[in-house]
Amino acid sequence: MTIATVSGYPRIGLNRELKKAEEAYWKGKISADELQATAKDLRKRHWTIMQEAGLDHIPCNDFSFYDQVLDMACLLGCIPERYNFPGSKTVDLDTYFAMARGEQTDKRNVTAMEMTKWYDTNYHYIVPEFAADQTFRIASTKIFDEFAEALEAGIKNARPVLIGPATFLSLGKPKDEFAPMTLMAQIVPVYIEILKRLQNQGAQWVQMDEPCLALDLAPGAAEALTLAYDEITASVPGLNICLNTYFEGLRENTALTFSLPVQAVHVDLVRAPDQLDACILEAKKTGKILGLGLIDGRNVWRTDLEAALEKAGKAANTLGTNHVMIGASCSLLHVPFDLEIEKGHLDEEVYEWMAYARQKLDEIVTLAKGVADGRDAVAAEIAASQAAVKSRRESPRLHNLKVRARTEAVDEKMLTRENPFSVREDLQKSALNLPLFPTTSIGSFPQTPEIRKARAAHKKGEMAEDAYQAAMKKEIETVVRFQEEIGMDVLVHGEPERNDMVEYFGEQLSGFVFTKNGWVQSYGSRCVKPPVIFGDVERPAPMTVPWSAYAQSLTDKPMKGMLTGPITILQWSFVRDDQPRAQTCAQIALAIRDEVVDLEAAGIAVIQIDEPAIREGLPLRDADRAGYLRWAVDSFRLSASGVGDKTQIHTHMCYSEFNDIIDSIAEMDADVISIETSRSQMELLDAFIEFDYPNEIGPGVYDIHSPRVPDVQEMVRLLEQAASVLKPEQIWVNPDCGLKTRGWEEVRPALKNMVAAAKTMRERA
Ligand code: GLN
Ligand code: ZN
Repeated sequence: MTIATVSGYPRIGLNRELKKAEEAYWKGKISADELQATAKDLRKRHWTIMQEAGLDHIPCNDFSFYDQVLDMACLLGCIPERYNFPGSKTVDLDTYFAMARGEQTDKRNVTAMEMTKWYDTNYHYIVPEFAADQTFRIASTKIFDEFAEALEAGIKNARPVLIGPATFLSLGKPKDEFAPMTLMAQIVPVYIEILKRLQNQGAQWVQMDEPCLALDLAPGAAEALTLAYDEITASVPGLNICLNTYFEGLRENTALTFSLPVQAVHVDLVRAPDQLDACILEAKKTGKILGLGLIDGRNVWRTDLEAALEKAGKAANTLGTNHVMIGASCSLLHVPFDLEIEKGHLDEEVYEWMAYARQKLDEIVTLAKGVADGRDAVAAEIAASQAAVKSRRESPRLHNLKVRARTEAVDEKMLTRENPFSVREDLQKSALNLPLFPTTSIGSFPQTPEIRKARAAHKKGEMAEDAYQAAMKKEIETVVRFQEEIGMDVLVHGEPERNDMVEYFGEQLSGFVFTKNGWVQSYGSRCVKPPVIFGDVERPAPMTVPWSAYAQSLTDKPMKGMLTGPITILQWSFVRDDQPRAQTCAQIALAIRDEVVDLEAAGIAVIQIDEPAIREGLPLRDADRAGYLRWAVDSFRLSASGVGDKTQIHTHMCYSEFNDIIDSIAEMDADVISIETSRSQMELLDAFIEFDYPNEIGPGVYDIHSPRVPDVQEMVRLLEQAASVLKPEQIWVNPDCGLKTRGWEEVRPALKNMVAAAKTMRERA
């Protein structure tokens, strides 16, 4: 038999039921029991879907109320002291949510644990905290309960999913100076206890996720992994372990991975198709079952089943059909739930090219059947897949000759401003006439309920174009007057007309479609609905010019035009997979370039191109990073370099630490960059001790992710810190990020204080 399986299934539900139930629970509108009942119902529904699709192994414990790393931390008893959690009990739901979100009640006043991106996805996980004297113990029964629940629901081959010990340790942050991998000896006994319990409950297989094997291994990790798995497998004879890797190829870790004493190894053949032969060879040598991740778990396109079956057949020929497992490249958590729901909403042709999680199950089962019973057994499915692949490949809507010719004609000159920054600087200074420590904001102002209501009504056609325009203009005027009143130097229009910084542009560019229900979990109850880029990208008409020109007409101060950059648009979309991402990015860059040039022509002298996502696109392997940074930086430069020297280009970055790519950020050659720093106490500035940042920079002094209003002194202190490593002429004064999630009652005093802080610095200079 050829095993059909997946590493995980979306947990939020077809209609985001989990999100809604969780948020209701947090607001006190439903009880814990009601929340648990919804969760139980969702799990059962999802298992049933997988069973009915015909999967042989069905994951369980891939469900989570927040994220699987936090679940693992609870399972292993890794609960930081501040949650004041008694050492003998199992973690209760409220402690669990306190760890994820913080808690401010009479019972407890604690901050949340840190959250960061799950490898190179847009999904986030809660970062485990390790103390040097960290101990581990089973502190959650979730995995056992869910396995029992699956059995009870009649799911025969339920396969509990765990994050493996090496990956779990690699994801955590030590509180003191020590390498987390040194905790392996303490953590392994707890894993053994967990696996024994699962085996006693009747588990035949468990899935251990060890994506760290597909990355550059930390020093000592190889030895630690070998010791750990030797001990684990010796302690639970008879239990089959499937070691799961994803998001990259095993490369130099291939032999190590297959040498571990497990029954099966799953590899990602979408991200790293070239590793197939090496993996077949190693699987043959070590007698293992090879898990083939042939279906893309990170994107929404239908699989070319003919090509995939050929690869699977190659593995089966060498290993035997019963030594091959078919799956998605990674958990299906990263794709939306069921395409069916888009019928009638999504562009009909594009619909035929796509597959969500539910459709991907069918592809997996088809492939497994094809391997076991031969191609003829699945001839109809393959024909349908071929037709879809062909229709997509040959669709005239994919290709725009004009765009192709333009991207091919891009040369060094188009990537470069007329003169170097040293020349531009003086020209801009005299054109803009700004004081030292100039103040500005990142773009958006509070998105009030009235703004949201007007936008929604306009979208539904319930508000006439004229009325909508008037409402937005009124908003813009309010924002402009406020900034003038408090004495800001470079103004913004406030972005009231934008629902989302990517969607707003995508909707006006060709080559994009928008789904109705393509939700993907980002973290906890938060979901995102990425646009789908299916074809060549072009800008048919100006996208922001009328708004910015109107805003500029209201004031004599410089009005900053606001755009989203090409890398961020790429990074936050489902991207076509029939050409390199770099090429799609260059097309988007040209579209943004056109907008930049048009803004300049309309009299906008300062233009910001936001690139908050530049860091998260960084490849997971060191060896690949330089290549990515090259095309990413070039795309930004392409978008920004069409203007004259006097026009000042800004960019903005947030959500990550940037110290390790600071030289690439400098290469982007934006005249001014605003960058998130206030929460990390200006950790960023460490980078400038060594690195002489050439252009101007505004390290954020107001943490907009918190409802707190910072006082003048606090911001002066942050600016003093900045002034200790940067020249005063280089420093801008601005918040960390856009203000759209904040209320006016916080923004008003905070920005007033910010302007006062800038004045203090100016007077001293
Ligand atoms: N200009 C955007 C805003 O102010 C930037 C948002 C972001 O960086 N995520 O909302
Ligand atoms: Zn930001």
